[in-house]
Amino acid sequence: MKAILVNHAIIDCMGERYKSYGMLGKKHSEETKKKIGIASTGRTHKMSEEGKRRLREFRKGKPAWNKGLKHPAIAGEKHWNWQGGKTEESLAVRSSVEYKRWRTKVYERDGFKCVLCEYVGNELIADHIKSFSRHPELRLEIDNGRTLCKECHKTTPNYCGKARTC
Ligand SMILES: [Zn+2]
Repeated sequence: MKAILVNHAIIDCMGERYKSYGMLGKKHSEETKKKIGIASTGRTHKMSEEGKRRLREFRKGKPAWNKGLKHPAIAGEKHWNWQGGKTEESLAVRSSVEYKRWRTKVYERDGFKCVLCEYVGNELIADHIKSFSRHPELRLEIDNGRTLCKECHKTTPNYCGKARTC
């Protein structure tokens, strides 16, 4: 008895819903059911054992759909296993070694003295004639380097307070 009451409640509820959609008392025709995709065969989503077995066979040897995909939201720096950009670090070390080599060559060419005031001492700077930041391709060109003392370096247009990088 209770179950029937529950069913009635559901029917009433559906009735209310249909009322609001203007469907009260109307039934979907078979044609409409097809159109709106209501299955009339009574098929459920449960798969038979046979079906499962066939799907397993089908998937066998195929990579998972997500294999090799990078998740952009957690890739790179955001990844919990991010190691701080090892590649960039080694590049920086290599370029600093090249920079030191370039600097030494510039000093040697200029005889370890300021090309402007001929200062000799340990406060020499290997200056980039064309700015280090604006002409990255000339960073390691000996011809783009000159030996300056600290004071003369301050008078150059590229001086920005960071002697080493200007
Ligand atoms: Zn000088």
